[in-house]
Amino acid sequence: MGIKQLKKIFSILKPSEYSLDREIIKKYSLDWRGVYQGSSDLILFPKSVQSICKIMNLCQKNSIPLVPQGGNTGLVGGGVPRKNKNEVILNLSKLNKIRNLDLVGKSITIESGCILENIKNKLQKFNLEFPLSMGSRGNCQIGGNIATNAGGVNVIKYGTIRKNILGIEAVLPDGTIYNSLKNVKKNNTGLDLKHILIGSEGILGIITAATVQVFPLPKERIVIWASFKNFSDVLEFYQQITNSFNDLITSFEFMNKESIELLEKNEMKLDGLKKNQCYCLVEISNFLKIKDFHNFLISNINFNNLKTNDIIISKSESENSKLWSYRESIPLAEKKEKFIIAHDVSIPLIMINKFVKKTSIEIKKFEKNTRIINFGHLGDNNLHFNILVNSYSSDSKKSFVNSINRIVFDNVNQFNGAISAEHGIGQLRRDELRLSKNKSEIEKMKILKKAFDPKNILNPGKVI
Ligand SMILES: Cc1cc2nc3c(=O)[nH]c(=O)nc-3n(C[C@H](O)[C@H](O)[C@H](O)COP(=O)(O)OP(=O)(O)OC[C@H]3O[C@@H](n4cnc5c(N)ncnc54)[C@H](O)[C@@H]3O)c2cc1C
Repeated sequence: MGIKQLKKIFSILKPSEYSLDREIIKKYSLDWRGVYQGSSDLILFPKSVQSICKIMNLCQKNSIPLVPQGGNTGLVGGGVPRKNKNEVILNLSKLNKIRNLDLVGKSITIESGCILENIKNKLQKFNLEFPLSMGSRGNCQIGGNIATNAGGVNVIKYGTIRKNILGIEAVLPDGTIYNSLKNVKKNNTGLDLKHILIGSEGILGIITAATVQVFPLPKERIVIWASFKNFSDVLEFYQQITNSFNDLITSFEFMNKESIELLEKNEMKLDGLKKNQCYCLVEISNFLKIKDFHNFLISNINFNNLKTNDIIISKSESENSKLWSYRESIPLAEKKEKFIIAHDVSIPLIMINKFVKKTSIEIKKFEKNTRIINFGHLGDNNLHFNILVNSYSSDSKKSFVNSINRIVFDNVNQFNGAISAEHGIGQLRRDELRLSKNKSEIEKMKILKKAFDPKNILNPGKVI
């Protein structure tokens, strides 16, 4: 469809609700990692749910494919158009009102274009916490978070965003509105469609708003960085710290030596911490009842003669932020590298060590000029198993990447894990979905897709 035709079809929208500017469109057609550069002739910025209903009707009638987009921080190419497929981008950033804050029931109803960090800051003023946090919080949007069932650094405490969603409003491909925005915790009225929309990566409907459970803001927090000579020690530390502090733990992150070396390459140095094979960051909150927390902590995690330079314990909020910044800089440092094959996998905690050892040996055997960068939300069994490739001997880059992926995913399956823990499927893992789900599951997913979107106008070519 040509630009003229598109312009005519969407002329019912206000001029501030769309753009045909090539430069603007190009920017929104590139994913965060810079891997997927798609193309489009039109980007829409609807300001109201009514506008989205009209857009859906027009797209359905004219068979125009639509790509829902939030903050475009997704890491699997799900929120950008494909190349030369005449797809229109539907960017949700202008649908960004806070509709309601219930201080009694502790919930917030927000539109999908709200930026995660803005909502967190707003709630802080009321001593409340939004139960999701992650490195992309300054750009990602609530709709994108829900569409990817985002995890982040607080899953150990609050679960993924799915666990905290009370209701959703979405525009479906036929232009109708699905609305379950009820501010109640219990609702057992038949099949719960909101759970099908959560994590659906824009292939079933446009999420326009959600009611989310919020929590009292943790009163004080400390951040611990500790270093260990091997992964078995990390697991022992994990057991001790979870036994001692249980639900006071808000994050438990892991990084291997290579992750820290990548930071050092970017001139970030964790002063005062002994160099080692493995590192952990733990955040603990709400410890008012324990008077001398520092002593309590040291006496409770005094295993294997942990020495003072094996551990850093923050003493102020500014130190907390500084210590977190090391962990959150790893994806940014990775982005600067020329060739990284990234994996976001889940492995049962008890098996992670075996998985890492076996997979690393097999990868090194296949291509020795590689470095394995492991980090992630260990408390949720989530490991970013990324391979930095210095050089490779293979016919093509594509077949090299496929072979590496095959090694990683065969091992993920062998250890009964998941090939995507929190980033989703998008374009990146679409063809590999069959490695993780059986034929019948994929068939059922296709039936659902058809029931919601018979003309396949929503995010075609993604997920299934
Ligand atoms: C530095 C960095 C750190 C990150 N850390 C984490 C992390 O710890 N945990 C984690 O889970 N993810 C993480 N991510 C990935 C990413 O931030 C999340 O997937 C996030 O939830 C995506 O939100 P977004 O608004 O950017 O969505 P987008 O990237 O714009 O879109 C993601 C998917 O959702 C769909 N979508 C977007 N909005 C809507 C809507 N309103 N309705 C329907 N479909 C929609 C899109 O079509 C696409 O398929 C990180 C990314 C970066 C860059």
